[in-house]
Amino acid sequence: MLILSFLLGLAFGSFANVLIYRIPKKLSIIYPFSFCPSCRNNIRWYDNIPLVSYVLLNGKCRVCGEGISLVYPTVELLCGLLSVLSYLRFGLPYAVIPFHFLFILVVISMIDIQTTEIPDELSYYLIASGILTSPFNFVVGKETFTRITNSLIGGLSGFVLLLTILIIGQKIFNKPVLGGGDVKLMCGIGCYLGTYAVFKILFLASLIASGYVVFLSIIKRRKLWGQYIQYAPFISVGCAIHLFAFNKLL
Ligand SMILES: [Zn+2]
Repeated sequence: MLILSFLLGLAFGSFANVLIYRIPKKLSIIYPFSFCPSCRNNIRWYDNIPLVSYVLLNGKCRVCGEGISLVYPTVELLCGLLSVLSYLRFGLPYAVIPFHFLFILVVISMIDIQTTEIPDELSYYLIASGILTSPFNFVVGKETFTRITNSLIGGLSGFVLLLTILIIGQKIFNKPVLGGGDVKLMCGIGCYLGTYAVFKILFLASLIASGYVVFLSIIKRRKLWGQYIQYAPFISVGCAIHLFAFNKLL
């Protein structure tokens, strides 16, 4: 079962790579099948096996020999590990909802890192799917009714909290401290995890982001404070910590 969940996670990771590449370019996510970004040739199924193909092909396209970004196997491996962790932590069938949630966060984080934008459609998807799956989402409550209300209130708190920070930050610093994308993202996260988690994740994300900025400043010996940083990866790490480390199971 552990191996199966790892393999399933790898397959999702492979799909995550497709989403990360295609959503910002507004390409169809279903058709055409996988192709090499440099020579546009279709990738054969046997060259498209997560992790394995990357190793066998020595990180190069079979047709044009162009290097394949290390991001692809990293995302696959990350999804594989998240799948195993979700399975170990929540068991079946409960693991499905948290894993799906983390899978979308991986896609959002990678797109944010590469393009500094969080695609609205992914945040709206999180909000809609979070509310729709809430009756079965035991992370937000014990009974069906509390789950649904906690999900709705959680989404609202995420939205209001980040919007407040955005408005106050604008007043104090005279420039946006957050992107509008972060507000919608936190709304979606609230729908999956509830109000309490929204506050905790914001705190965790700020803590990790500050640590990261200090670390970078030391390494690069340059002042980085006040520079724009992509927030989605830190929020996502906060969500993973909340789900796997500190959240008492009901
Ligand atoms: Zn190629």
